[in-house]
Amino acid sequence: MSDKFDVVVIGSGPAGYVAAIKAAQLGLNTACVEQWMDDKGVVKLGGTCLNVGCIPSKALLDSSHKYVEARDYFKGHGITVSKPEIDVPAMIKRKDKIVGQLTGGIAGLFKHNGVTPIQGRGKVLAGAKVEVTNAKGEVSVLEAGNVIIAAGSVPVAIPPAPVDGEFIVDSTGALEFTEVPKRLGVIGAGVIGLELGSVWGRLGAEVVVLEALEDFLPMMDVQIAKETAKILKKQGLDIRLGTRVTKAEVKKKEVEVSYSTAEGEFTETFDKLIVAVGRRPRSEELLASDSGVSLDERGFIYVDDYCATEAPHVYAVGDVVRGPMLAHKGSEEGVMVAERIAGKPVQMNYDCIPSVIYTHPEVAAVGKTEQELKADGIAYKTGVFPFVASGRALAADDADGMVKMLADAETDRILGCHIVGPSAADLVQQVVIAMEFGSSAEDLALTVFGHPTLSEAVHEAALAVDGHAIHIA
Ligand code: FAD
Repeated sequence: MSDKFDVVVIGSGPAGYVAAIKAAQLGLNTACVEQWMDDKGVVKLGGTCLNVGCIPSKALLDSSHKYVEARDYFKGHGITVSKPEIDVPAMIKRKDKIVGQLTGGIAGLFKHNGVTPIQGRGKVLAGAKVEVTNAKGEVSVLEAGNVIIAAGSVPVAIPPAPVDGEFIVDSTGALEFTEVPKRLGVIGAGVIGLELGSVWGRLGAEVVVLEALEDFLPMMDVQIAKETAKILKKQGLDIRLGTRVTKAEVKKKEVEVSYSTAEGEFTETFDKLIVAVGRRPRSEELLASDSGVSLDERGFIYVDDYCATEAPHVYAVGDVVRGPMLAHKGSEEGVMVAERIAGKPVQMNYDCIPSVIYTHPEVAAVGKTEQELKADGIAYKTGVFPFVASGRALAADDADGMVKMLADAETDRILGCHIVGPSAADLVQQVVIAMEFGSSAEDLALTVFGHPTLSEAVHEAALAVDGHAIHIA
């Protein structure tokens, strides 16, 4: 194997593998260095997203949702089934199969596009060189015309609740339970805590979510966050805000959790505890002291708007740099950097990145929230359409939630869209495209939407911006 490449990517998550494929497609001789390997010693591609993040969590969310449908909803449709039972090991095995299929798929894509996968831990040296230490401890140095760092992120650990991998777990451990915990504690009411809490709550666990902040989902539009809290509480998630965990101790195969609230100090016992308090960039042991690449005060690799670091020919993309920790954000940064290396003058629109919480119903957003517009002093108009007025949502017995659209009061340009409701993730994408094209709310209002579809709720919200929704009084 040659040790000279046009591009060396460190990390094969959605930021790294997409950057590597794009670079290879643009004719650049590309290698992708990945530290993870499977038990057969084969390099394991796909990063957090495919192995222990987006995909496995959605596999479990989908399995647990089907269980709830069979248990609670079939009857309403006139379908009788015997009491459904959950076989947790079979559910986990299915999840693992999907992960295997997708990570294997990336290996196939690398082969197809001519990307060289290299197992080992990469370190950026001065002069855009990459030192690689493989699993046997052998060290080699790759000469790279350009380096793309895509080292990703890891769960944040908190001293009061040290993860032991059995009773106190992080998000990775919560994807591997072998049975449904009777009582499950979740520290953190963020995206990951709510998704994983939902999985096990749907399957029968009594779930208590302990959140230190006073506000629920503060990054979301307040109205949508309130509606989401109402829906999740109705589903049985016990979400306690303003609750700071001070200690978690494993005692007799249970976890005793101490926490403080405005009312005082309390203790509760759980069978399992998930620590989901956020993620931090994986930037340690990644840079030689003379690499020329610097970190910001939170440990993110410092980059400009084009993901260039302070070292010539060294870029960084994905969770390891500023911005939302989302797979699609990293992938698009990867594409942008590969194209810039190939000499194309592309840039990324950071104002149009959708974010989703895959609870049921889903919560999805793009653009500004109402509270952000108020804070920025921007005059805006609001259009809201509840799913209870959607024929398709009612037909599906899935009519919780709403679409909320925000448009500039003067220009009518769409500034944001916030949805809690069925298929919110896919619905919001329509507005992402509209915003990317600089659409006004009227443009969407004048567009023909198929009937009966959930998408009509987006149409009606756009109509509602000027008070002309058809199906609400
Ligand atoms: P990662 O996916 O973390 O990949 C980094 C890779 O780099 C890893 O494979 C790592 O082993 C490798 N690496 C690190 N350092 C080195 C080194 N020195 N040498 C060699 N290799 C190295 N995002 C979404 O958009 N949608 C979702 O639904 C979603 N769900 C999630 C659910 C869970 C439970 C979790 C934990 C995360 C979820 N995320 C989701 C977030 C998403 O997984 C991350 O944003 C995404 O994986 C970041 O991609 P990345 O390529 O930057 O890093």
